[in-house]
Amino acid sequence: MSKGNNLKLTLKDDQHRHFRDDDFWRIIPAWKDVTREEFSDHMWQMKHSIKKVEQVKTVLAELCKDQFYQDMLEGQKITPMNIRITPYIFALMDWNDPVNCPMRKQFLPIGSQFLPDHPYYEADSLHEDVDSPVPTITHRYHDKVLFLPTTICPVYCSYCTRSRLIGGSTETVEKETYGVNQARMDVAFDYIRAHPAIEDVVISGGDAFMMTAKQITFIGENLLNIPHIRRLRFATKGIAIYPQKILSDHEWFNALNGVHKKAREMGKSVVIHTHFSSPKEITIFSKLAMDRLFAEGIIVRNQAVLQEGVNDNINDMVLLIKQISYMNIQPYYVYMHDMVPGCEHFRTTIAEGEALEKAVRGTTAGFNTPTFVCDAPGGGGKRHVASYEYYDRENGISVWTAPNVKPGEVFFYFDPIRKLSAEAQARWSVKETREAMIAEAKKKAGF
Ligand code: SF4
Repeated sequence: MSKGNNLKLTLKDDQHRHFRDDDFWRIIPAWKDVTREEFSDHMWQMKHSIKKVEQVKTVLAELCKDQFYQDMLEGQKITPMNIRITPYIFALMDWNDPVNCPMRKQFLPIGSQFLPDHPYYEADSLHEDVDSPVPTITHRYHDKVLFLPTTICPVYCSYCTRSRLIGGSTETVEKETYGVNQARMDVAFDYIRAHPAIEDVVISGGDAFMMTAKQITFIGENLLNIPHIRRLRFATKGIAIYPQKILSDHEWFNALNGVHKKAREMGKSVVIHTHFSSPKEITIFSKLAMDRLFAEGIIVRNQAVLQEGVNDNINDMVLLIKQISYMNIQPYYVYMHDMVPGCEHFRTTIAEGEALEKAVRGTTAGFNTPTFVCDAPGGGGKRHVASYEYYDRENGISVWTAPNVKPGEVFFYFDPIRKLSAEAQARWSVKETREAMIAEAKKKAGF
């Protein structure tokens, strides 16, 4: 992100109050006769989800140029994520310019986008597996656990931080795919019961939208019945990419709402953490889904990922923040992109994250202003983007600590090498030189 144009706010005051409400899916040749009623049905969305490159070609017909098709095939040889895209999201992609479309970038990998991984990338960059005492549980923060009961999502994001686990094996990564499973859940519940310090459970994966109504109720009630558990968060990208589930799967919605109501009776909370990253993901379907959740008093917070070419400019970021706020979603976090495989083209520098947060601050109320964070590689947890101990901007090395999470440890985040000066890039190309630069940064940070 260059300073200047990307930080110049030119949004109209009321732009965020307008929700796309046309039959946008009819632009796709295969869906030109699909009615609004059909498109609004969650079953129709699942049945027509795109899972193969060949399917992209079939539904797009003449809109799929041969060069783009070849590019998708090349992408399949590199990407760690399988394709799974709801028609809702697929139809929101710009098929006149798919290569540059922020929606396409997030969900449909192409070979020409990929860059070599950073020398210090890791498949499990956040060390969730390292901090996992039993399968499906990551216990890093004293009073909170991450619980991953499934590895399945309604849409697979190209930038997924859990690409090592989610969405099944690809040409480059072997994965163990699992759905909700009683034996695994029993182990997870036993662990949580045995650790009274835990008050907070994030139920993620994978995606809660892929659990059945019975599973939502079972997981929710079992966790709420543990006396020391106070807060549950169902993590789902669903509202952003599959709002039809909220609007038409009444059994599922009632199960979620039932757990929410039970929690309130017990003086506890059940909320949703969702994941809009681009204002282009928002339509009238999102607004209607949120209206339904809000009417029941279900709190929804948003966690976005900062991605180059998707939301790394002030207009898209502020529009995203204001539009989700307008729908009663609280903008909670904007993450620096994790240092995971196949994602170098998405990553931005810490300096860019800081500059964007500075530019965003003051555009709306403080409680609707997200905190920009870096999830410190190696399991330091989320740190405010400007709270590094030291930052060597020239060489793109930031040094972090996490005294309440991993006292005494030092963590590093590295800016994408392509964004550094030619001289710094040359220094990074030599192993001994880069190790010396990292040691120097650590020393300057006081360690
Ligand atoms: S919804 Fe979340 S877990 Fe699923 S693929 Fe996207 S980022 Fe990964």
